[in-house]
Amino acid sequence: MIRFDIVTLFPELFGPHMASGVTRRAFDSRQVQVRLWPLRDFADGPYRRVDDRPFGGGPGMVMLAQPLQRALEAVHAERGDLPAVVHFTPTGRTLTQAQVQEMAAGSGAVLLCGRYEGVDQRFLDRHVTQEVSLGDYVLSGGELPALVLLDAVARLQPGVLPAPSHEQDSFSDGLLEAPAYTRPEQWVTPAGALPVPPVLLSGHHAQIAAWRRGQSLVLTAKRRPDLIAAARAAGRLDEADERVLRQFAPDDTL
Ligand code: SAM
Repeated sequence: MIRFDIVTLFPELFGPHMASGVTRRAFDSRQVQVRLWPLRDFADGPYRRVDDRPFGGGPGMVMLAQPLQRALEAVHAERGDLPAVVHFTPTGRTLTQAQVQEMAAGSGAVLLCGRYEGVDQRFLDRHVTQEVSLGDYVLSGGELPALVLLDAVARLQPGVLPAPSHEQDSFSDGLLEAPAYTRPEQWVTPAGALPVPPVLLSGHHAQIAAWRRGQSLVLTAKRRPDLIAAARAAGRLDEADERVLRQFAPDDTL
């Protein structure tokens, strides 16, 4: 069982996602438990204030340390352990499938969803163990990143996907996944009939596997040469893979 404690100003954003799609199984079966902690419950005063203006001036508001501290103490008291504390921020390290796999095999974490211009740095310095970004763009809050992490972890739980299809997903072996095709074998369009690659209809499993590996390598080389370099450095490319890559880039530019 994995337990995520989510500290957020918008707990209502989580329910619909957890009740939909295949990942719902992970939440219904409590393989992934989610406990929501509405941050305003830990704020002071009649207005339950959770933010204030930044020292030194500048636009926007900053989340106060004190309500976050109280929320974290409540989480610790209820859980009885000190889990990882993840803060979602564009200044963090970009989330990878390797991190998701690690989380999926762990016991959970506290997820802090930022809002406004971010969180008082003193709280982050004191309590946060991981800063995670979704990518090089700015969202209005950490709730979508938290949902992304929940979804990615939930689909890796045993029995959630009908087959172990995530083993072939992009990034699970460090490469992008090969393209997929389904019926009809000939898709008739105004631009002409578009066939499925014949090898996929051959029933020859070894040839299909080799074709998929080749497609995966070439797609990764085109779009994410950094992943090819990492796979090579990790010794995950064999001689057959290198032959495919040389055909794709005979001048050895990869
Ligand atoms: N002022 C911050 C900056 O420039 O780095 C951006 C704050 S953003 C408007 C509000 C909150 O959204 C952040 O505190 C963070 O929790 C979340 N957020 C925005 N973009 C994100 C990203 N790319 N990855 C993870 N969290 C993000």
